[in-house]
Amino acid sequence: MQLALGIDIGGTSTKLALIDAAGHITARSSFSTSDRADEHDFFRHLFAGIAELVGDSVELVGIGAGAPSANEQQGTIENAANLPFSPKVEFCKTLRERYNLPVTLVKDSNASTLGEWHFGAAKGMKNFLLLTLGTGLGCGIVANGMLLGGEYGHGGEAGHICVQPHGRACGCGRLGCTETYVSATGLKRTAFELMATTMHDSPLRSLSYDAMSARHIYEAALSGDFLAKKAFAETGEVLGRALADMAAWFEPAAIVLSGGLAMAGDLLFVPTLDSLERHALAFHKGHKINVIPSALGENDAALLGAAALVWK
Ligand SMILES: [Zn+2]
Repeated sequence: MQLALGIDIGGTSTKLALIDAAGHITARSSFSTSDRADEHDFFRHLFAGIAELVGDSVELVGIGAGAPSANEQQGTIENAANLPFSPKVEFCKTLRERYNLPVTLVKDSNASTLGEWHFGAAKGMKNFLLLTLGTGLGCGIVANGMLLGGEYGHGGEAGHICVQPHGRACGCGRLGCTETYVSATGLKRTAFELMATTMHDSPLRSLSYDAMSARHIYEAALSGDFLAKKAFAETGEVLGRALADMAAWFEPAAIVLSGGLAMAGDLLFVPTLDSLERHALAFHKGHKINVIPSALGENDAALLGAAALVWK
């Protein structure tokens, strides 16, 4: 049976899957990335995982992978803040030498974008954006039927556009970036800001900053907590304004929201759509820009996109 191997390298875990040309996952496994000592240890686990998954009956036609800090042109992973790697890891070369197969590496956000494009919510679209709302904010852009890469491979960093001059400090070194407001971490920062500047009673007040996760805020909001709902409303307000700006640039048919925070559903989508409608240019008003949830779920979009690198 001919299958592609998809690899999704994340800071916490690395996922592997065998995927057919129609986007069906026939087998999968994973191993911890954060427990690895270095890239040599990582490759040992990767090779073992591949051997176990592929066995004797599968004919691999190629390998696709998504990773943070991927240099798509060089096939390397460079200066990855959340991976236990040396500054430059020869990912494609290492796998090509071992398996003698075509190997392609893309940024993790682009892998998810390809997944939604070929097998998910954006199937057949010529213009769409994917935003992954996780710990940070990842973005992939398909414009005029092409995945945007940029001259040096770092285009489409929507998480690091300034949405608030002199705003919150970002890991990238700038102030007021989108992801400091619109991400699981951004939501938490907003909740703490609301606790500091208002008197609203909330069960969230008994949690320390380190102990609180976006899930606590989500659960408090679901049970009707005013402060938690307000944290979501403010997050949606900033996101909607950012989407209106992105619509002005790219005029996408749809903006797909994925990642943990997007799973909050109406708590996030309702204020986001309301804000987008208010901030949109005249030709984009009337809900012309569809905002839709991922069709593939957090775990599979990047794996399927990695496989699409092989099949498409
Ligand atoms: Zn930033």
